[in-house]
Amino acid sequence: MSIWYKIFKWKPWTILTNYDIDSKCLKCPKCGSTSFEETLLDTVSNVPSEIDTHCLECKEHVNYWAYGAYDPIFRLSDRSFEMWSIRRFAQK
Ligand SMILES: [Zn+2]
Repeated sequence: MSIWYKIFKWKPWTILTNYDIDSKCLKCPKCGSTSFEETLLDTVSNVPSEIDTHCLECKEHVNYWAYGAYDPIFRLSDRSFEMWSIRRFAQK
């Protein structure tokens, strides 16, 4: 958890995205923590098929994985200037 979040219960936007290119969450966009809790939601023949990821520190819902890929909406709505510029300039 970042010192900012500890004191202000709010963290400024980051420059770089908090997600990697596959939309895996590397850092919680809300508090900066790198500790996550994964919850298995569904399986197909005992193989995980849907997994929810929450931040262990602030309980923010940071990711959702299903059938081999992360939901890109979490990466696209990330609180970072990198993703903001992609959102801003991708729109026509
Ligand atoms: Zn968090």
